[in-house]
Amino acid sequence: FRKIATPIYKAAVYTNKSLLWTEECARAFKILKERLCGENVLALPNFEKPFIVETDACDLGIGGVLSQECEKITRPVAFYSKTLSPAEQKYSTSEKELLAIVKTVENFKYFLFGRTFKIVTDHQPLKWLSSVKEPAARLARWLIRLECYYFKIIYRKGSVNQNADGLSRLPIKAVGAENNEENCEFMVSFVELRAQTSDLKWISDLILEYGHKQPHLEPRNQTQLKLLREYKNLFLKNSILFRKFERNNKIFNQFVIVESDKKTVLDNFHKSLFAGHLGYEKTLNKIEERFYWTGMKKDVFKFVQECLTCQKVKQSRNVHSAKMVPLRPIRPLELIAADIVGPLPVATTGKKYILVIIDHFT
Ligand SMILES: [Zn+2]
Repeated sequence: FRKIATPIYKAAVYTNKSLLWTEECARAFKILKERLCGENVLALPNFEKPFIVETDACDLGIGGVLSQECEKITRPVAFYSKTLSPAEQKYSTSEKELLAIVKTVENFKYFLFGRTFKIVTDHQPLKWLSSVKEPAARLARWLIRLECYYFKIIYRKGSVNQNADGLSRLPIKAVGAENNEENCEFMVSFVELRAQTSDLKWISDLILEYGHKQPHLEPRNQTQLKLLREYKNLFLKNSILFRKFERNNKIFNQFVIVESDKKTVLDNFHKSLFAGHLGYEKTLNKIEERFYWTGMKKDVFKFVQECLTCQKVKQSRNVHSAKMVPLRPIRPLELIAADIVGPLPVATTGKKYILVIIDHFT
C-alpha cells in the first residue's frame, strides 16, 4: 500500500501549497480502492489464536502485517508501514530489516504483549546481529526493546531452516511448556521473568526444598505472611513461580508477579487500548486469569476507583438526586456550602482530596 500510494504522497508533500494531481496519482487512487475491496480486507483479531507478524524493508520504507490463520487461510488483521527518514535510509539492509521487526512489533504491542507469536521475515537480521562482534549502541537498544516479547523467527526464503530453532529466543525454551509453542498457559514475558527471580526467590527456594509440605516459618512482613498462606496453591514450573487458581471449575495458572510489576499489569488490563476501562470486577477477572500478587483485589479496586479517565467519563450509577430548590441568599457568608472531591490521583505532595467551599452569594 505504501508503494502504491507513493505518487499521491509525493504530490501532497513535495509540491508547495497546491496538490499536483497527475495521471499517476489517479491510477494509484484507483488501485488503492480496488485493493481495499479485495481479499486483503482485514479480519477481526481472535485472541484465542496465535498471531503472525510479517515484516519487510526496502530502500525507502519498512512495513509489517499482523495476521492470523483462520480456517487454514492466513488473513491480515492490521497493517503497518513507515517511510524511513533520510538518516534511516542510510542504514544497511540488515539494519533496516531489524528496524522493521522492532517497529512493527511495537506498533502491534497491544496484540502481542504477553503472547507467543511468529515473526516471518526474509532476512536473517538476528543471525547477522549475533555475528557482529560489538553491536552498535543503536542495535543493542533495538534488541532490548524486543526483549519483553515472545516470538519465534521464521524465514520466508531458503530451504527449511535448520537454525530456526536455535535462533528462537531463550525465554521460550526456558519457560515454554513441553516444547508446545501453542501452549500459552505458562508463557510469561522475559521482563516479568527476570523480575520474579530476584524478589520471590525465598518462596521458590522453600517450595524447591519442602515441596507440598509447608514448613513452619515466621513471616518477616505482611507480604510474606500472605504468600505463605497461599503456599498450598503455589508451585514451580520450569523454576517459575505460579499460583493455581480456580474459578467456575476452570483452573488458571497465575504468574506470580512482584511489587514493581503491579503497575504495568494494572495499566495493561485497565487503561490500554484493548482493556477499555472496564469496571472493578471485569478488570479483576481478566487479571486473575493470568497474574497473582498479594493484595491484588484491593489494588485493582483502588486502581479502578482512582482512574482519572473513568472519573471523567463514567457516571455514577447510584445518583440520588433530590428535587432542585433555588437558593436565594441576600448577603455574603449567609449560606456556605462545603464538600470534598476525591479520591483523585495522588499529587506529588501526597495529597488526593480537594476541599471545596462555596459562598452562595458571592
Ligand atoms: Zn479507567
